[in-house]
Amino acid sequence: MKKVTVIGAGFAGLTVALRLAQQGFEVEIYESSSRCGGLLGTDQTPYGIAERAANAMIRTRKAEQLFEELNLTASHVLESSKRRFIFRDVPTQWPLTLLETFQFVIRLGSKLIRGKKTLRPSKQETLENWGKKNLGQAATRFLLGPAMQGIYANDLSGLSSFLILNPLFSPRKEKYRGLLTGPGGMQDLINHLETKIRSLGVKIHLNSSVQLDDLQGPVVIATSAAAASRLTQVKFPELSSILASIRMTSLISVTLFFEKAQSAYKGFGCLIPRGFDLKTFGILMNSFIFKDRDKTYNETWILGGIQQEELIQLSDSELLKLLAQERYAILKQKDSLLDFKINRWKNALPYYDLTLEKAQKDLNSIETPDLFLHGNYLSGIGLSKILDRSDLIAQQIGSKYG
Ligand SMILES: Cc1cc2nc3c(=O)[nH]c(=O)nc-3n(C[C@H](O)[C@H](O)[C@H](O)COP(=O)(O)OP(=O)(O)OC[C@H]3O[C@@H](n4cnc5c(N)ncnc54)[C@H](O)[C@@H]3O)c2cc1C
Repeated sequence: MKKVTVIGAGFAGLTVALRLAQQGFEVEIYESSSRCGGLLGTDQTPYGIAERAANAMIRTRKAEQLFEELNLTASHVLESSKRRFIFRDVPTQWPLTLLETFQFVIRLGSKLIRGKKTLRPSKQETLENWGKKNLGQAATRFLLGPAMQGIYANDLSGLSSFLILNPLFSPRKEKYRGLLTGPGGMQDLINHLETKIRSLGVKIHLNSSVQLDDLQGPVVIATSAAAASRLTQVKFPELSSILASIRMTSLISVTLFFEKAQSAYKGFGCLIPRGFDLKTFGILMNSFIFKDRDKTYNETWILGGIQQEELIQLSDSELLKLLAQERYAILKQKDSLLDFKINRWKNALPYYDLTLEKAQKDLNSIETPDLFLHGNYLSGIGLSKILDRSDLIAQQIGSKYG
């Protein structure tokens, strides 16, 4: 059977390697760091676990099937995780006033009467523009903005409506059915993936870098866009320069462990719309999401984005001071801190802006024999979207080389 090389052992690289090995390909992974998982990982503290990046993946059918194949029992999600808050002077489950709700329903309803397709985003249109046109000012700021910020870690002003909303018009869209993670967090998922692919004969070379010129046969590059650009510079210069145009956004996640749980807002978490003089994008109330997992109550605070790149320079004490102020402003809580875990992700995620929209189109027009691109800059930032792409790439390789 033909050999396939995968570069990068993040979630994209590991899952595409799994699907390829299951088809009988001989797979070798080259990973430049000393561990598998990429952005994903879970730190242990005396007070409980702290996720480095994603704390769960969306429970699609494919994700469920992956957990079954890996023999990984998913952590139970609490009923309280269904409650989500958005900040508008206080955390609330519905942030619009009565009048704004009425205006929002009339505006959206009048569009829907004329057919769902009237809501289809145009190419090169920002999400802010799309929102104001279709949902109105208030719903854009207090509903669409926070929801997108929670996924794309940026405000609406630069995000591409086409990239983000167009997939929602696909007829095969699955209904949201909750979340999946391992009992020990996302590191469980990585450990199970690694064990499974090794058992299928996949060779993983850690602390290894490769050059495309040294490789024979099909290659999957499953790294960030920036790393993919460097890897393709010599062999595919045109492709490399498109990849280099993709902008990256930095992010900080801080898990705070408290002596006692706040009980004022029990839910998945709280998203903070822009325009409040608050830096935080969102708060995950971890102990109200996953059952029997935490030793002590903890929250993960996420901040960053292209407009707040300077935050990544803050020292630990400056960050903790800022978060203490914001926690009081948002949740009105002043509890004593037991421990904390800070992850600073410099240029961690692709910025889903109009430049990326153009780059994706340009990438599709380039022929790259034996080379397949994978990662969160292509079909979505979330892990369920990455898993879908792993299946697709494995199918393409299977039908071309199998
Ligand atoms: C704070 C935060 C919270 C998030 N929350 C969620 C969430 O709740 N749900 C969700 O679904 N998603 C979430 N995400 C997004 C999700 O975690 C990422 O999109 C996903 O993990 C990216 O996986 P990847 O394999 O594409 O990339 P990466 O994880 O970046 O992996 C790429 C790998 O390639 C390696 N590499 C780079 N260059 C080379 C080279 N030259 N040679 C060999 N190896 C190389 C890297 O070392 C790395 O291991 C979050 C992200 C962050 C930062």
